[in-house]
Amino acid sequence: MANMAAEKVEMAVLKGEEAACAGLQLAILDPHVAPERIEAWKRQTPIFDRAYLFDRSGKLLYPAQVSEAEATTLAALRGEIAPGFWDRGGRRHVRLEEQVALVSVIQGSPLGRLLAILVRSEQGLRRDIIEKTLVGLEGQSVVAVLDGSDRVIYAARPLERSQHVLTVAFGEALPSWRLALYAPAGVSPRDAVRRQTVLFTAVLILLLGVIALGLGASYRLVRRESEMARLKSDFVANVSHDLKTPVALIRMFGETLEMNRVPNEATRREYYGVIARESERLTRRIDNVLDFSRIEGGRQRYEIARGHLEPVVHEAIEAFRYPLAQQGFKVHVEVEPDLPEVALDTEAIKQALANLVDNAMKYSDARRHIGVTARRVGGEVKIEISDEGIGIAAREHARIFEKFYRIGRSETQGRRGSGVGLALVKHIVEAHGGRVTVDSRPGEGSRFTIHLPVPAVP
Ligand code: ADP
Repeated sequence: MANMAAEKVEMAVLKGEEAACAGLQLAILDPHVAPERIEAWKRQTPIFDRAYLFDRSGKLLYPAQVSEAEATTLAALRGEIAPGFWDRGGRRHVRLEEQVALVSVIQGSPLGRLLAILVRSEQGLRRDIIEKTLVGLEGQSVVAVLDGSDRVIYAARPLERSQHVLTVAFGEALPSWRLALYAPAGVSPRDAVRRQTVLFTAVLILLLGVIALGLGASYRLVRRESEMARLKSDFVANVSHDLKTPVALIRMFGETLEMNRVPNEATRREYYGVIARESERLTRRIDNVLDFSRIEGGRQRYEIARGHLEPVVHEAIEAFRYPLAQQGFKVHVEVEPDLPEVALDTEAIKQALANLVDNAMKYSDARRHIGVTARRVGGEVKIEISDEGIGIAAREHARIFEKFYRIGRSETQGRRGSGVGLALVKHIVEAHGGRVTVDSRPGEGSRFTIHLPVPAVP
């Protein structure tokens, strides 16, 4: 900090001198050197309090006269100026009595190149340059400027009882002056340094933390995106396969019927039945995908009105009566009598239940039992769909409700699905102000529960 402050002061001095020389150049543009113009320049240039102007022959052009002592000093100084300096138009600092003087060749006067010897004003320098530059630079420590004999030229605050911390030199523009840092009474420099170190370390740790967090977040985002891309491509393949089976069955039975290869009326009826049921299955699957796409696009609307759950549950199960029976499922449905009315979109709730029953069938092995119950518990109605199928490991419980997510290939092998069924169930139930939960253990079976709030009686 001290070095930085010293550099700033040095730069400001050089800039001030530069501006002063430019001003002087303007003041001597007259064919003869006009003292009043130089006086005016001096008033505007407080960093110098004396100025002498000589022409190349050594004639003093300003001021009109000098004391004998001054004349001797100036003559000695001029003697040191090499002819090359005149030609190059240089600028340099020299010691003059107790002060520093700037010796500069000023061009532009009709009298030719002139030599200016400008003696610095300590007061002007302090007020115009040092104070302005150092203000606001100090923190807890006090910055002071000292001359060659340690006299305080400038100090932002009184230095009594302050403890000297360090001193740095200025550059060539302020040859014998130095910049010193003091710690005010009660503030030990060691403590100040320690505090700074702790602060910088804390900021560094914070920055590293933020960078690490950012990297972690980006990594997670990229991983999630690539996982999503994979799931999406799986989804397309899964949906196509999911639709293929019912279409193949419809086609096969349709063609058999068309060719009149059916032995009797009973079989014919059975085939018509298969076609009707497979069409229903197809419709259900397509509805699932369409509704899911509407949800994704934020276009899905529900028509929610108060109604009874009982017929909705029965109708949803009824739609599966044939495949359940055909695949040897035993279904136990138990709807509590006098269930309170709930706010519901009948078709949407039926679709949610259909997805859960469909999954219960799909993910059952040898034990083919499905239970459906609806009862009131406290302020909600719970509809449970349970099976005794392959079950779901606890770590997957949350993920199965994510769109496109299907549990690892081995478990779902041979069981077609699009991976959006449970995401749809979740969306529907949440749109009703409810939630869906799962309770399941691998090898034991699963129980999905839809919780719907019972509205307050109007
Ligand atoms: P899918 O079309 O694959 O069935 P879902 O969103 O309906 O998609 O289900 C997501 C995943 O959750 C399924 O792939 C399956 O692994 C698992 N799952 C859903 N229901 C059950 C269940 N009753 N028993 C076991 N696993 C299930």
